[in-house]
Amino acid sequence: MTEKIREFFKTFLLYELAKGLAVTGRHLFSRKVTVQYPEEHTPQSPRFRGLHALRRYPNGEERCIACKLCEAVCPALAITIESEERADGTRRTTRYDIDLNKCIFCGFCEESCPVDSIVETRVLEYHGEKRSDLHYTKEMLLAVGDRYEAEIARDRAADAAYR
Ligand code: SF4
Ligand code: SF4
Repeated sequence: MTEKIREFFKTFLLYELAKGLAVTGRHLFSRKVTVQYPEEHTPQSPRFRGLHALRRYPNGEERCIACKLCEAVCPALAITIESEERADGTRRTTRYDIDLNKCIFCGFCEESCPVDSIVETRVLEYHGEKRSDLHYTKEMLLAVGDRYEAEIARDRAADAAYR
């Protein structure tokens, strides 16, 4: 009975509403934590795992030696590699595809690469309007690497210093 009377007065005096407004009031003048994306961004770690890239050496030679470790380690089976031996006896890929529809951004591919070729960049603002748009070919991955090489190199150096 006492409980019912308490409930009645709580309802009558709009207790729940006042309680809610008190929470609003407490936060009204406190420091705002909302980030106004896309004008503002939250800080990113140098280890951020975004869009993939294939890197080159400073002389323009592609780093990838077609060892296929990344393809073997990928838990999502997102990487497809075909390779051939070049005239100079070195091995290079003729096909290097990543299906980003399948990728779970685990980072295993970059961890496994012995020559720092496949990496995940800080790039997160990309999209596809159909599934095939997220099927990245070797040329597309090399283009991402060429565009962001300075940032990738900086991040790899920072990561190495941290380890
Ligand atoms: S990040 Fe993980 S899931 Fe994505 S391609 Fe690399 S190994 Fe595969
Ligand atoms: S990207 Fe690295 S791990 Fe993958 S095939 Fe090339 S060299 Fe091997």
